[in-house]
Amino acid sequence: MRAVDIITKKRDGILLSDQELQEFLSNYLEGKVTDYQMSAFLMAVYLNGLSEGELKTLTKTMRDSGQLIELEGVTRFLIDKHSTGGVGDKTSIALAPLLATFGIGTAKMSGKGLGHTGGTLDKFDAIPGFTFPDSEQAMVKTIEHTGVGIMGQTDNIVPLDKKLYALRDVTGTVSSYPLIASSIMSKKLAVRSDGIILDVKVGDGAFMKTLEDAQKLANIMKNIGEMFGRTVKVVLSGMEQPLGNAVGNGLEVYEAIQSLKGEGPKDFEELITTITGIALVQKGDVKTVEEGIALATAKLKTGEAVNVLRDFVADCGGDASYIENPEKFLSAPHQVELKAKESGCISALMAEKVGIAAMMLGAGRETKEDKIDHAVGIVLNKKIGDQISKGDTLATLYYREENQKLSEAKELLESAYEFSTESIGTPNIILDIQ
Ligand code: URA
Repeated sequence: MRAVDIITKKRDGILLSDQELQEFLSNYLEGKVTDYQMSAFLMAVYLNGLSEGELKTLTKTMRDSGQLIELEGVTRFLIDKHSTGGVGDKTSIALAPLLATFGIGTAKMSGKGLGHTGGTLDKFDAIPGFTFPDSEQAMVKTIEHTGVGIMGQTDNIVPLDKKLYALRDVTGTVSSYPLIASSIMSKKLAVRSDGIILDVKVGDGAFMKTLEDAQKLANIMKNIGEMFGRTVKVVLSGMEQPLGNAVGNGLEVYEAIQSLKGEGPKDFEELITTITGIALVQKGDVKTVEEGIALATAKLKTGEAVNVLRDFVADCGGDASYIENPEKFLSAPHQVELKAKESGCISALMAEKVGIAAMMLGAGRETKEDKIDHAVGIVLNKKIGDQISKGDTLATLYYREENQKLSEAKELLESAYEFSTESIGTPNIILDIQ
């Protein structure tokens, strides 16, 4: 069948057969369908959606377009945790070692950050000497030894998604539920795991701006998981303000380590203990998420998970003294405090603006080629719901040199805060579990 016939059918809302869709997608990967034809097809999907059968075929074709990570030889119960991304999201750094203390392995691919959201790869890069396992065998070794299995995304896994995503990015077709859901799930299905936990962020700094939208996406991803016989749990978590207090690579690793000692911010601790609680239910160690949360919270007090992180870092060639003495991450040459100009209750702290301000200091990339400064970033001293007086420190900026960008970052950060004369409650971090 000609590409134009497939596009026309999708445009007119006519169902595509498995074979038609699969052939069209495979031809695109092989360069036999052009980018402009695929762009038209993606727009037709954006406008008309996909049936369950089409969604399954799209996800399966993407998954099977590259290497499958089977992790042969791993005997631990394996969890793949994925977050849809946000500001200050250092969850994987703390979660994987915490899970390991319960005998649960993690198997996940992580990426670099772009724009206002950070990437786990960049955060680990703040540790001198650290390099991620670069092959499946190397990842199997670290999982069996430490329980932690995180590797960088490679071009061989789900290459069709990579090609389609690049096109969606420039054709206004990213924000389509079936396209987002199949894109995320194809990558989860390409890696063997016993349980998938998706952390869908909701709010200003996230893809999904409302709880309703996030619930809709969560449902589609769960459905896809079921179609492939996989267990998927979804946590919907708040991203109307940054997660935790630290935004910036080394600063976030520092905060993750403090959290593993039970000394981290409350919202972040709640998120990692909740995800651990879900994982313990999936493993069958506890009956309810609440029981699992209690175990995870108690574990944080022991500091045991810090040793796991240290061993993982050492296995990856990193300087483990940074994990033992995390103050080493606080290495930016200068700090400046942002002071409150008025008194009141903080009613908003826009995550996206904080993320962009951190990026302007050098903590993130505006373009793929930009180099990251791992020492710089922002620590939020006050967040939504906090009562403040004029002159209180709202946030601290860690920076390398005084320049125009620093002034702009400070100004932007200031504009991220809004104040109210009325008391505002601290927002919930866990909005829903599905
Ligand atoms: N993350 C992905 O991996 N794919 C999308 O389409 C959106 C977010």
